[in-house]
Amino acid sequence: MKVVLENLTKKFPGRSKKDPGVTAVNNFNIEIPDGKLIGLLGPSGCGKSTALNLLSGLLAPTSGKIYFGDEDVTDVQPEKRGIGLVFQNYALYPHLTVIENILFPLENLKGDEKLSRDEMMKKAMEAAKLVQIESLLSRKPKELSGGQQQRVAIARALVKMPRLLLLDEPLSNLDARLRLQTREEISRIQKETGITTIFVTHDQEEAMSISDLIIVTKDGVIQQVGKPQDVYDNPTNLFVAEFLGTPQINTFEGEIRDNKLYIGDEAVLNIKGAENQKVYVAVRPEAFIPAENGPLSCKFKALEVMGRDISVVFSSEFSDRKALRAIIGADVKVEPKDGVVRFFVRSQKTEVFNRDTKERVYYEEA
Ligand code: ATP
Repeated sequence: MKVVLENLTKKFPGRSKKDPGVTAVNNFNIEIPDGKLIGLLGPSGCGKSTALNLLSGLLAPTSGKIYFGDEDVTDVQPEKRGIGLVFQNYALYPHLTVIENILFPLENLKGDEKLSRDEMMKKAMEAAKLVQIESLLSRKPKELSGGQQQRVAIARALVKMPRLLLLDEPLSNLDARLRLQTREEISRIQKETGITTIFVTHDQEEAMSISDLIIVTKDGVIQQVGKPQDVYDNPTNLFVAEFLGTPQINTFEGEIRDNKLYIGDEAVLNIKGAENQKVYVAVRPEAFIPAENGPLSCKFKALEVMGRDISVVFSSEFSDRKALRAIIGADVKVEPKDGVVRFFVRSQKTEVFNRDTKERVYYEEA
């Protein structure tokens, strides 16, 4: 089922005259395609949970509309929306066994929706199988690992076959290895069921790795929507460029002058198609090529060997960042001279943003 948000806004009023309140979700306009896994991504406080709560119906919007398919659900009660919800803290019932937890949503069905015991058991077993916890059905939540508890929570959210599955930071309570494993699981389950799924995370790597589409937000405003690789390769503004990618993109103060891109007095690229202006030059770590005659000079700090790759750590008087990073192949030689390391930069992974607006400045390499 596709989901459409139309001018969706949620304002929380201030508590006093001096407190203007917060617009947690500011005029979201987006069509979320059917059957995809969507990562809703942004830093803490950007409005992700509020957006999810609007979708689930736990919060009412200040203005705007929500459509599930062609149906306007803006005023529909949460239990009538056909959604499955999974929270960071699993929220399982501690006194119920795994199978009782999964059965719970079915036992509360009323009227026409009411199911026989056999039907309920069949659906619960299907959900348990989908998340691969068939062997744990008689255990209580406290007898499970965090990853297993999260699977039970997902099975419970799926048992009614919701039209939309909403996951709020579902991996936050898991350790690093389980996070990796569980995120692959979420991706597999989403593909198997085909249920449109939105998951909220502040972890860009998590969102990038499994989402069909990411929605990047900041201060309640959608910054960019697209396939993870497209957004990474073509960030619309400096915030998106800096938010996506580890190590972070390296940002320098620079200038476009007469078809040259400068960092300080050093012309790092010959370009065309962009007007003279002050800019930020943002270079992905993989876009640096160390070379004795490279146009960009930086202060060498360290080499960090990371197996297959080497990370060159350096700084620049034209960057606020204490440590900038280039990632290069382990076979590439880096020979700093008098504490200075020099680079060429690849234009494909070097983005330019206007210094005032922080919006992307498009250019071509000359
Ligand atoms: P996090 O990643 O930290 O959970 P988030 O992106 O999910 O953050 P929200 O919880 O949606 O962010 O909050 C967005 C903004 O709205 C924040 O500034 C928050 O303080 C504010 N906010 C959220 N809920 C309320 C509320 N009930 N009353 C007042 N302000 C709220």
